[in-house]
Amino acid sequence: MKITDHIKNANGKTLFSFEIIPPIKGKNIQELYNNIDPLMEFNPPFIDVTTSREEYVYLDKGEGLLDRKTTRMRPGTLGICAALKHKYNVDTVPHVLCGGFTKEETEYLLIDCHYLAIDNVMALRGDSMKHQQYFEATKGGHVYATELVSQIQNLNKGKYLHDVLDAEHKADFCIGVAGYPEKHIEAPSLQTDLKRLKEKVDAGADYVVTQMFLDNQKYFEFVEAAKNAGINVPIIPGIKPIAVKRHMQILPQVFKIDLPEALILEIEKCKDNKQVRQVGVEWAIEQSKELLAAGVPVLHYYSMGKSDNIKAVASAIF
Ligand code: FAD
Repeated sequence: MKITDHIKNANGKTLFSFEIIPPIKGKNIQELYNNIDPLMEFNPPFIDVTTSREEYVYLDKGEGLLDRKTTRMRPGTLGICAALKHKYNVDTVPHVLCGGFTKEETEYLLIDCHYLAIDNVMALRGDSMKHQQYFEATKGGHVYATELVSQIQNLNKGKYLHDVLDAEHKADFCIGVAGYPEKHIEAPSLQTDLKRLKEKVDAGADYVVTQMFLDNQKYFEFVEAAKNAGINVPIIPGIKPIAVKRHMQILPQVFKIDLPEALILEIEKCKDNKQVRQVGVEWAIEQSKELLAAGVPVLHYYSMGKSDNIKAVASAIF
């Protein structure tokens, strides 16, 4: 079922959902199930599965020589989506990226999604490769998520790449896109970023999931500004409980998000990461309670592979 239909059918009740990361290749899927199992009692209507792009690895060839290979360390997004759908009878949302994929590869991926009865996809540009300072489009791939949304919408109209055929049978994907309450790191201003978000919605995006934020006020202001900019699709808040002290440096650096003073003070008081994890849970519970009271459609949690803290938050909320 489409995410937008899940939201409609909930009749104003806030839903619970979460995002998982596929295992590093060579690892068993069982570890993933062990982390998902405790969250299923909260009846998530959907689970997001991230996609990681390719990276360079260097193999020692001896005599000071290195051999550079390109590989994906966490492949299998679609396989994981199919496995979770089959095991838990839940909708799964594969993240589809511009970076690292040609338009043809994306088309094949979407066709597979359609065969697997996957009704929702999250359309994202993706980040730069680890060695790059800026995002560079893959040869034959898309530059911005808007273009990817248009490609998916074309499939919904039965229009394939290069106009090779007009199909009678059409796909019917519900499309999610990313939104940034504290603006995307590369955007020159929040207003410009909102204009870009509006372009994604105009191209056919059905809902938005936000980047994590730790100050609800940022989300409320973003939703208000988005409405003023003519964005009228559901905006699902993304929540990540702080888990380690280093998040104080990593989150601002990587995601360009601010930490509220009160949270920083609490983290600084912690003697170890066990205490930080507890502070993170308590903060996420307070955030979730306020968002719930504001009537958000879904509380969407970033699990980052470990679910004990998400379970603790969900137990206090749902
Ligand atoms: P876009 O919407 O294309 O925007 C990228 C930048 O370009 C923005 O600064 C925007 O303002 C600007 N821009 C857009 N259109 C134009 C234009 N026409 N001209 C000039 N500038 C423009 N990354 C992964 O690798 N895998 C994942 O699974 C993944 N999941 C995510 C899930 C969520 C909910 C979120 C919020 C992010 C996720 N990301 C993921 C990270 C995401 O890929 C990065 O944040 C990426 O840098 C931007 O992606 P986007 O889809 O927002 O890009």
